[in-house]
Amino acid sequence: MSEPTTPFEDALPADNPDWTPLAQEDVYLGELAAWSPLIAHDLDVARSFGDRPINLLRVGNPAATLGESRRAIYISGCIHGNEPAGREALFTWLREVVAQDADFLRTHHIIAVPTINPDGRANDTRGNDDSNRDLNRVWVQLDQPEIFYSCELLRDLRPLMAIDLHEFVGGGEDVAKIRGADIPDADEALRGLAEDVSGQLIDHLNSLGINADWWPSNTNPRHARNAWGLKHALPILVETNRSEGYDRRVRYEAQLECLRFLWGWYKDHWRDAQAATGNARRAKVHEGLTRDRAFAMVEGDEVFPPGRSYTISAADAVTHGARLAAHGINTAAVDDASGDVQARCDQAAQPMLPYVVDADSAYNILSATRNSDLQDDIRPHRLGRLGQ
Ligand SMILES: [Zn+2]
Repeated sequence: MSEPTTPFEDALPADNPDWTPLAQEDVYLGELAAWSPLIAHDLDVARSFGDRPINLLRVGNPAATLGESRRAIYISGCIHGNEPAGREALFTWLREVVAQDADFLRTHHIIAVPTINPDGRANDTRGNDDSNRDLNRVWVQLDQPEIFYSCELLRDLRPLMAIDLHEFVGGGEDVAKIRGADIPDADEALRGLAEDVSGQLIDHLNSLGINADWWPSNTNPRHARNAWGLKHALPILVETNRSEGYDRRVRYEAQLECLRFLWGWYKDHWRDAQAATGNARRAKVHEGLTRDRAFAMVEGDEVFPPGRSYTISAADAVTHGARLAAHGINTAAVDDASGDVQARCDQAAQPMLPYVVDADSAYNILSATRNSDLQDDIRPHRLGRLGQ
């Protein structure tokens, strides 16, 4: 089969071609999967609030179990439906990668959801069909199906790097803006690495003549990049300028250069990402055990001590169990007849846990009882795993 192209690409080199319509997405993804044995597409892996299908692409060795190798990057496009340049670039870039890096892809996966917000893409709106709900503000609550699904995917995949493709309005002469995670509860070394990669990408874009700068800081856990940092993936936010005067081709090409650079970085440095994400998980388990740090719960409102475990009522455990599980929060039955469950803080989901269950969190799903002890035997052998 010949190399497939999108309707957008077919219209190039025009400066302002129409985006590939949502209705054409599954057609093109199907062609991609037929074209390369390294590409599999799962149509309709989840449904949006407005009951539109969400498509997922798996790029890599089809014989390898997804998530088993822990060598994967995750790319999400169009969480804001009216910011489609990254989605369009993703369509092109996936072909390039398969053509150039078949060997590398024998042991690594790319998991891409080009349009995580199909309602918004269909309507050209920021949010989904639930009264234009902003899907990049629900990463703690998970009360929208698109992000509930994304969260389960991230839990199972444990990507080393996670890339969030957006666009913005304003920003003067900047074509692109880049940022890692800012939230203090995410592992510091992981945040540092994300900042380092972001800085390199900004320099690279400027060297190509694409004006680029930092996206403003924000420590809110409801945003994807911060939530992903709390989940120990190396998060990178890519934004391009969709203001009037910035043609679609310019935005698409800037996004394409970002994907090319980040993939190149990943190929050279995936071991660094693997070490950083693994260390972050272990460090947060340890931190949950020792509790020597305040939580910046929301926008600087600190809660200390944040608790070393939480007791969740039996009723809440039943009602909200699926969302706790989607966050990867482990619970165990309390040793009495109540049916209550306990979530200890010495688990990998620790940085997200208080945001989800603490009564003082602005975005909690439920209000659990904060305990100052682990309510279980402390297992000192866990300390020995640090730094391995
Ligand atoms: Zn956005």
